Amino acid sequence: MSKISKHQIPCPACGNTGEFTRWDSINVDLNPAMREKAKNGSIFTWTCPHCGKTFTVPYATLYHDMKRQFMIYYMPTRPKDGKGLTVSRPGKHYGLDGYINRCTYEIEDFMEKIVELESGLDDYVIEFLKYVLCGKNRPKDLPEDAVLRFATLVSDKDGRPISIAFNCITRERVAPGKEKVMMVPYDIYEEMKKDGIAPQAFEQEAEFPEISQAFLKRFLGQ
Ligand SMILES: [Zn+2]
Repeated sequence: MSKISKHQIPCPACGNTGEFTRWDSINVDLNPAMREKAKNGSIFTWTCPHCGKTFTVPYATLYHDMKRQFMIYYMPTRPKDGKGLTVSRPGKHYGLDGYINRCTYEIEDFMEKIVELESGLDDYVIEFLKYVLCGKNRPKDLPEDAVLRFATLVSDKDGRPISIAFNCITRERVAPGKEKVMMVPYDIYEEMKKDGIAPQAFEQEAEFPEISQAFLKRFLGQ
């Protein structure tokens, strides 16, 4: 089930209030149109009906994909020193067997996490690979301020995976979809997965672990 709620919010620009529909939880099997709106972040945008200006409105939401069996929380505030998110109360266990559960604290991380989990790849490895690529031995053609965002898994015509594409997001404004793309051979991902070091880097006990660059930066330092 999806859950929505309506709120009157004041416009930061003109001061008038307008209605904003919050998707407190999203089930994309029941509301397939919401998949794209979550992936492009438009569930968090509001256009003032009075002055026409558009704003980002962060709020907590739970994204649920029943077919692919994953759930992603987005929380606008990160708990202090917290590792991941646990929502169960004693005697009431949350979560479903066989599901992948994640939590995110940045809207961009939430959007990216949906794409990562939809790809069927191991997001522990993807995020650790990104961390390594942006580290000391970063490729020369990767701009200093670039942030990597998982784009897609590229396969050949027989469906064999060849490479993983990352969008390079830099401070310089580029229209969405026009970012520089970095291709990483799939073999590197496979080797890293075999190494088994990625899960150790994200060690945390939580029903909804946070598997992101922000987590690594806080706990491994950079
Ligand atoms: Zn306004």
